[in-house]
Amino acid sequence: MIDNFGRKINYVRLSLTDRCNLNCVYCMPKGQSPVFLQKEEILSVDEIYRICLYLSKIGIDTIKLTGGEPLLREDFEDVVKKIKTIDKIKNITLTTNGTRLEKYIDFLYDVGIQNINISLDSLSPQKYREITNFRLDKIVEVIKKIKKYDFFRIKINVVPIDISEEEISDLVDFAQENEIKLRFIEMMPIGYGNQFKFISSDDIISMISKKYGEYKRSEKIHGNGPAVYFSFSKLKTEIGFISAMSHMFCDSCNRIRITCDGKIKPCLNYDYSLDIKKMIQQGVDDDAIVEKIASTIYDKPKSHSFLGEFFENSEQKSMYQIGG
Ligand code: SAM
Ligand code: SF4
Repeated sequence: MIDNFGRKINYVRLSLTDRCNLNCVYCMPKGQSPVFLQKEEILSVDEIYRICLYLSKIGIDTIKLTGGEPLLREDFEDVVKKIKTIDKIKNITLTTNGTRLEKYIDFLYDVGIQNINISLDSLSPQKYREITNFRLDKIVEVIKKIKKYDFFRIKINVVPIDISEEEISDLVDFAQENEIKLRFIEMMPIGYGNQFKFISSDDIISMISKKYGEYKRSEKIHGNGPAVYFSFSKLKTEIGFISAMSHMFCDSCNRIRITCDGKIKPCLNYDYSLDIKKMIQQGVDDDAIVEKIASTIYDKPKSHSFLGEFFENSEQKSMYQIGG
């Protein structure tokens, strides 16, 4: 559907859980006692199916499964199989920390989930542990395993924290060797994200360029998101940048979010949201729910205002509660 500002909205980030087995310092840092929802507050498989069906009726055709860690859901396979029955949903993709990926490789292959984003902020074992509280070798192992399938399209997402040129070059070489797309995501001041020194995409591009030569913005689009890709003269692969802070892309934003308790969030930066789970539980008529969803999406804010003043409806939750 088209929103108030003429943007075509066809993409949803659907959070399956707020739970996670890692403790990324900018999302769910160790020792901060995250507040998790109760089991009954989380969307059931049937509620997820109904919400996806409603969304498909107003033009959503692509769903990114996220979390928390989406692969922690014991009924993950049931969720995917149910969504797959909706004809108008053309594309289901996944974003994961990779820790439980091995268990699901065959299922993802069989069900045809080809696009998988894996969060991997550093290839230094010590730094990776400092960021996530987990072992790097397990993630690298599963990436290499999944690459053998020659089916999956893997992207590595890096949120840079105090990143060195050496770390960047290790990530670039790893991506090139394994024919994986690499993307740098600017840290957003959400949750604990505002406690870190901001590193812009331009800073990263300059660091990459020192070793890998002149750069040029690519016209190619890889995926459904806001990443802009750059080529470097000494690199075969292009590198992606998601620059929500330094190069705001709200004018072309095509996405909405559904939290794991069934609230629709038209923009990451605003906390007000429509509670679809509640409407389903109250027995509201399907057409009326679809209409409410459509009008909420229509009113999607023009842009985020992370760079401006804090305002009444500023989102205060952490990414694990929203889905990234
Ligand atoms: N657990 C999965 C994962 O890590 O990929 C999915 C959920 S996670 C919240 C989704 C993405 O949000 C990850 O790539 C993570 O690095 C990113 N993220 C979390 N907090 C962020 C922040 N403050 N700014 C930018 N990206 C953030
Ligand atoms: Fe978990 Fe993903 Fe948040 Fe890291 S970024 S704590 S893996 S939800």
